[in-house]
Amino acid sequence: MSDIQPTPAQEEGTTTTVITATTHLTLPAHPVPLTYDELNPRSKPVEFLGPIGTGCISILAPLFTYIFFYTCNDAVGCTPTTVSGWKYAWSLVGNFPSEAGYLWEWKSFAVYSGWYAYCIACWKFLPGDKIQGNLLRDGTRKTYKMNGLYTLLLTLGLSLGVLLNPGGIELFTWLYDHWVPLVSSSLVMATFQALWVYGYSYFNGELLALGGNSGNFFYDFFMGRPLNPHPPLFPSFDIKTFNEVRPGMILWLLLNISCACEQYLRLGTITDSMWVVILFEGWYTIDCLIQEHTILNQMDITTDGFGYMLSMGDLTWVPFTYGLQARFLAFKPVHMGPVWTTVVVAIELAGNYVFRQANNEKGNFRAGKNPKKLEYMTTERGTKLLTSGWWGRSRHPNYFGDWLMALGWCLPTGFSTPLTYYYIIYFVILLVHRQMRDDEACRHKYGKDWDRYCEKVPYKIIPYVY
Ligand code: NDP
Repeated sequence: MSDIQPTPAQEEGTTTTVITATTHLTLPAHPVPLTYDELNPRSKPVEFLGPIGTGCISILAPLFTYIFFYTCNDAVGCTPTTVSGWKYAWSLVGNFPSEAGYLWEWKSFAVYSGWYAYCIACWKFLPGDKIQGNLLRDGTRKTYKMNGLYTLLLTLGLSLGVLLNPGGIELFTWLYDHWVPLVSSSLVMATFQALWVYGYSYFNGELLALGGNSGNFFYDFFMGRPLNPHPPLFPSFDIKTFNEVRPGMILWLLLNISCACEQYLRLGTITDSMWVVILFEGWYTIDCLIQEHTILNQMDITTDGFGYMLSMGDLTWVPFTYGLQARFLAFKPVHMGPVWTTVVVAIELAGNYVFRQANNEKGNFRAGKNPKKLEYMTTERGTKLLTSGWWGRSRHPNYFGDWLMALGWCLPTGFSTPLTYYYIIYFVILLVHRQMRDDEACRHKYGKDWDRYCEKVPYKIIPYVY
């Protein structure tokens, strides 16, 4: 059975705070209810170069997570520049001198599973607003419990308790010391979830993602067949939104703290570069959880299915590759000095300003508020599009701010290796591809109104440049 929650009218009498996500979907008037097949038409396997592309990414993305470790660690340095260096790095795979590089360890798997279970318990038992998601194709809405921020605050409080206790700093380096087995554990979890939701979606009659129902396993497994999967008997637990900002994002912050502890134990101090990285990336996580409800309007939630792209991305890629800068600084400290620190802080603050202003302008506007009295155009679909402020300067100003912040996370690692800059290169690819997907989706949604908008706002991401 579908896990769709009742409409607002049906929910009368509820005692929780109910807020409704704001992106609108105009449903065609159907005199008779659509059948399952009509609601879930076959998709064309065209994204990411089709099944071959999605198959390759499914293999390469986890592989790169391991490569980032084995080519950048205190045994080989970062990164090998000679053939013998690369051979040595390769020889360490499965043969690493410490547990940090073991490919598998049951203890780490138990800890990772415990962490995931803890996040579920926080979702279940901590208080949180009930927020209604966007209108779905079948005319219903799902209700989401939003308490990621409380999960984060509890976790940070517990972490502080550990750190302030004698031996706490040493204990916290456990994560740094079990990096690869934790990567493997998260991959097992991500693969299991993606396989399970794929298989289960054939039996429970749930709503499918329009882009993940091609009939080709390699494509649908990656893109995500079900739109809003949940475990059997727990319809209120939405696996996709849960994974989006909790077990991966918060773990990323904990991994960064663990790297800072490692550096402290080695140096007796924490360098300015490490402070900058953990504070900026930490703030990104905190900010994301403060704004948790806004994910309901993101493409991942409204459009994409839940498959390996999201399970692996959320659980493995985000914490373990976004944590590369801090891990590098743990064994290769960089002292930036006041001038370089000021430059990096200025870039970060500029990025944060654009990111937050742009997201606030759209968030407020979609919530029916327009405090800056920004200009907008009305579309035939009924939805309005901002044409001034940040959304008048480019069609994705928030991506530009996000990328500038990413640059601020990489610069503190200095210039001894290109590897720690992988993030800004990967992020350009991700954001440009995402912009193309969103543009396509908006053209589909808004038709010629979107062309009118593009004429008014010709720049895609960087105002006056691209
Ligand atoms: P956006 O926040 O840019 O949202 C795109 C949607 O906004 C469109 O589909 C459209 O939906 C609406 N929209 C577009 N133009 C306008 C306009 N002029 N006025 C009002 N609404 C408009 O994209 P994402 O959901 O991709 O990203 C959300 C945030 O997440 C971004 O800040 C991004 O940087 C970040 N992000 C971070 C990642 C990471 O790994 N760090 C990965 C991906 C995203 P509609 O009209 O239906 O409302």
